[in-house]
Amino acid sequence: MDEQRIWAPWRLGYIKGTEEPADPPPEPIQWQPGADHQCFLCRAAASYADDQEARRMNLVVDVGQHTLTLLNRYPYSNGHLLVAPLRHVGQLHELTDAEHLEAMQTLGRFSQLLGKLISAAGFNVGLNLGQVAGAGVPGHLHWHLVPRWPGDNNFMPTLAGVRMIPQSLEALWEAITEEQATNA
Ligand SMILES: [Zn+2]
Repeated sequence: MDEQRIWAPWRLGYIKGTEEPADPPPEPIQWQPGADHQCFLCRAAASYADDQEARRMNLVVDVGQHTLTLLNRYPYSNGHLLVAPLRHVGQLHELTDAEHLEAMQTLGRFSQLLGKLISAAGFNVGLNLGQVAGAGVPGHLHWHLVPRWPGDNNFMPTLAGVRMIPQSLEALWEAITEEQATNA
């Protein structure tokens, strides 16, 4: 990951030395069966003594019966979400029907939510299967939900190695969590 970020407000406090580095994420009290303890998606899918605080630290915005949804810590655009099965599986054919169904429904629900919350005008929905296809975590598949706007700058990662991130992850986590509570 050698891309240069030109706007990363959530790190400014740390860079300026005005904020302590974030605490390491808490240790799970129970992992999902078959979890890989080195995998950040498995870590996000685990159970914690304080689930809400763990959700915040792992940037998790939703946990369903079979899938979880979290903010990508290294987003291509504002609101870039990841939807993954709770189980550590890397291939599409390994998913159960229930996991497929819930993943698609979740992508639908969050595209609607982001359309409303941050006025996303469109989305790229994608899956990188295997390292050669660009999967950062090839053992645990995940869909990317990348919001788009007219005239946005998403060409920049490919053209210039630069990403522009306009909103802090923490603020966005709060907003999405609140929006879901409102609609519950
Ligand atoms: Zn995993």
